[in-house]
Amino acid sequence: MTELKVNDVHYAYGGARALNGVSLEVNDGSVVALLGSNGAGKTTTAKLIAGALTPSKGSVLYNNETVSGLPVHQVMRRGIVLVPEGRQIFAQMSIHENLVMGAYKENDRGRIAELLEQRYETFPRLAERRNQLAGSLSGGEQQMLAIARGLMGEPRLLILDEPSLGIMPKLVQQIFELINYIAASGVSILLIEQNARASLEVASYAYVLEKGRIIMEGASSTMLDDAFVQNAYLGADEDEELEERL
Ligand code: ATP
Repeated sequence: MTELKVNDVHYAYGGARALNGVSLEVNDGSVVALLGSNGAGKTTTAKLIAGALTPSKGSVLYNNETVSGLPVHQVMRRGIVLVPEGRQIFAQMSIHENLVMGAYKENDRGRIAELLEQRYETFPRLAERRNQLAGSLSGGEQQMLAIARGLMGEPRLLILDEPSLGIMPKLVQQIFELINYIAASGVSILLIEQNARASLEVASYAYVLEKGRIIMEGASSTMLDDAFVQNAYLGADEDEELEERL
């Protein structure tokens, strides 16, 4: 079943066009990758889905209901949570306080405590340091915290914007393991990444966005074997191949 349907969305920042008709779908319980180089429009697409931006044309449907135009908190209430690029944790607050902030849907203290315990079980490193300032964590640990905070909102669809960006290789692998783990719990994931190979390995389907347009889509296994994808995103000759394709 289609859970998320992004339908021909357009967006411009002032006069600068960022998206020129992007359409994509995420099926229930699946992991879908959105690949593309810097400035392709990936973050803009994420923000349009999460309600942080409203498309100038086109629509976003979630479980057949139009959500484009709704404010972020209402989109979140329906089950879509965005873990933004750059993590955006509250450095001057404790790890514990950051996590509590993520439980925006809950007023019930007992339920919040339960959700916290679940997170601490999944992320023992955060549990050990729960009373320390979030700013004292390493970049990778902060990314874990941002994902854990996103999960406090009990998403049905989690959008991860560049979760591996700027993170030590050792932790990057842990982040992808975590993505697998979250997916196995039944949460759908839209994974925005520049690390194309690792993304295609966890995703079942992928889209490639360039210059505000989807230029390619398909099963991840097909993408991994595709010569264009290999050259443009998985290996050498990136710029030349990409220019030809555009
Ligand atoms: P990156 O991987 O670098 O984050 P991206 O694929 O996420 O790139 P976007 O951040 O969505 O791309 O940007 C798409 C286009 O919109 C780019 O040309 C970018 O310069 C422009 N853009 C993004 N945010 C703004 C903004 N706040 N004001 C003006 N232009 C913007």
